[in-house]
Amino acid sequence: MFRDSSIIRWRNYSDRYMLEGYECTNCGKKYFEKKGMCVCGSLDFNNLSFCGKGKIVSFTKIHSGPEVFQEQTPYCVGIIDLDEGARITAQIIDSKYKDLSIGQEVEAVFRKFYKSGEKGVIHYGTKFRPKF
Ligand SMILES: [Zn+2]
Repeated sequence: MFRDSSIIRWRNYSDRYMLEGYECTNCGKKYFEKKGMCVCGSLDFNNLSFCGKGKIVSFTKIHSGPEVFQEQTPYCVGIIDLDEGARITAQIIDSKYKDLSIGQEVEAVFRKFYKSGEKGVIHYGTKFRPKF
């Protein structure tokens, strides 16, 4: 009876909201994005929650982003190895590009992603910032 679109949207974006991932039940390898098959050949995964801490593997500065992120340019995006072993690509905030470095420790924070639609619905998700 309640078909609240915001709840459906919440579910669709749960990976980004909760920083949830998947762990292979056979070899224990962890993924942030859902895989059809693990590198070991297993098709069986358990859900898992990441603690949100990790290290920068590589990073770059985006000057021309997708339209929804245009108002935030320039911004930094990095590949981050989470402490649990999975890898995620995410925006890195609260730091200048020149102050970022490979191997730097970062932590997940819950921030505004972008606005969409005529009503300016605000989407939230996980970004990373340097750990102090
Ligand atoms: Zn596996």
